[in-house]
Amino acid sequence: MLSIVVPIYNEEKIIDELLGRMRMALNSLDTKYELVFIDDGSTDSSLFKLLKLKSDFSELKVVQLSRNYGHQAAFTAGLSVSEGSLIVLMDGDLQDPPELIKSMYEKITSDPNIDVVYARRISKKESLVRNFFMNVFHEIFGRIKIDKTVEDVGNFSIFRRTVADAMLAYREKSRYLPGIRFHVGFKQEYVLYARDERFAGAPKMSYRKLTNLALDALFSFSDYPVRFMLILGLVGILVSLLGIIYVLISKLTGIAPFGWSSTLFFISFFASLQITFLGLLGEYIHRIYKEVQDRPLFIIKKIFR
Ligand code: UDP
Ligand code: MG
Repeated sequence: MLSIVVPIYNEEKIIDELLGRMRMALNSLDTKYELVFIDDGSTDSSLFKLLKLKSDFSELKVVQLSRNYGHQAAFTAGLSVSEGSLIVLMDGDLQDPPELIKSMYEKITSDPNIDVVYARRISKKESLVRNFFMNVFHEIFGRIKIDKTVEDVGNFSIFRRTVADAMLAYREKSRYLPGIRFHVGFKQEYVLYARDERFAGAPKMSYRKLTNLALDALFSFSDYPVRFMLILGLVGILVSLLGIIYVLISKLTGIAPFGWSSTLFFISFFASLQITFLGLLGEYIHRIYKEVQDRPLFIIKKIFR
């Protein structure tokens, strides 16, 4: 069986169209399937709509979370209740075209050696500002990752149960699933696609949520921030050594022309450097604290089967 996991947060305008297109796309496959829709604490009529559609959609399973946990947590919840031997992750705003599931499915079933097939964007339709920040993130993340192929890749993918179990075994609270999916290894392939515009409504990943996600990715999958801190600290020591030499020479030669401006410059520069680094350390401590607290990633209120 194939499980398709879709997180839903206030998508009442999209649900009918989404289910319609998914049904069309999936009925042409030679497999049984289930749709696992995660209601991530929607405050509009999304849940109500889903439950209404359930009556003529026996494949639909609706998981209601106790509140809004964010879409990475919602995907994780969906993974944990899905029962298929193959699992698809896709967004619920029709930016990931359901029609592509067929080519991903055919690719993964054509070769028992392939464990993951992810969708790689050749283009996307986002607003200018959003597009700019997404490109910056993917540029940076492409550099720090084990593999350049992660660029332009999101959650949209199909993989085997073994991969899903491996991903669920990653218990970190700061979750970046595309990163985790690469980190588990296995044999991975991809298909190319053009990412569509959102079907309706405003993006539910606000800039704040996107920034958090980008930071999660950066901090969980690289040691760049601490490395950067170390390098800048060492450079700072070098600069201050040069400064000290200059001071000594001036003192010994008796010119000592230095006044408060140079002093002030060094004090304010190194003070702000220290505060920056303290903030960076704080970021790590905060993340360690979250791990130690070990709160559940999500709480399921009810599963409608
Ligand atoms: N989503 C969610 N919880 C959230 C935010 C978003 O379940 O807190 C869902 C949303 O309904 C959509 C998917 O995650 O199905 C992707 O959201 P969005 O399109 O806003 O993100 P983007 O396209 O910017 O990645
Ligand atoms: Mg979207």
